[in-house]
Amino acid sequence: MVVFAHPDDAEFGSSGTVARWAAEGTEVAYICVTDGSAGSNEPGVVRAELAKLREEEQRADLRRAITREVRRFRPDVMIVPDPQRYWDDSRSYINHSDHRAVGQACMAVANPDSSTRPMFPELLDEGFEPFEIRYLWIPAWEGDADTFVDITETIDRKIEALRCHKSQVGDEPVDEWIRKRAKERGAAQGLEYAESFRTFRLREDD
Ligand SMILES: [Zn+2]
Repeated sequence: MVVFAHPDDAEFGSSGTVARWAAEGTEVAYICVTDGSAGSNEPGVVRAELAKLREEEQRADLRRAITREVRRFRPDVMIVPDPQRYWDDSRSYINHSDHRAVGQACMAVANPDSSTRPMFPELLDEGFEPFEIRYLWIPAWEGDADTFVDITETIDRKIEALRCHKSQVGDEPVDEWIRKRAKERGAAQGLEYAESFRTFRLREDD
């Protein structure tokens, strides 16, 4: 299960890894927290025109909404945004606060919301029993990481997926960005292209 703030975030963060897992038969759930309606600076584009699904849930408590999806899908691995990232090392980018907000909510979902019965008792009424997340992965754009996934085979699909977000990437040289970053992350591991993660193991295997 991949939880993210904006419609294109998952492509940037972990799509090379997810494409690999999907090719190996892993079932994948994407949980997009916002409707992407603020993702345009074009004059005349109003939020209502861009907004589409799940507005009700977005207005509702974010932690409850994510908890519901975790209890529904009961994922083996949950990939969430970094709740601590304020900027990049080169000081050329300030991280969008939505990414951090979703990361923080996901941490609360991991503990205590998804696993604790008294949290959101209304979810029990909807039939969603508690679930204890085993693996939590946070994409590491830079700096230290403990897990590197070889995405050499899937980087083209990652770029292709990003290009589908035409309103966001337009004619930007996403190929260059993605290849450069994935090359940097893979270099120390002897991999041509990699995505890297900081991972948690929150419970033992059954
Ligand atoms: Zn985003």
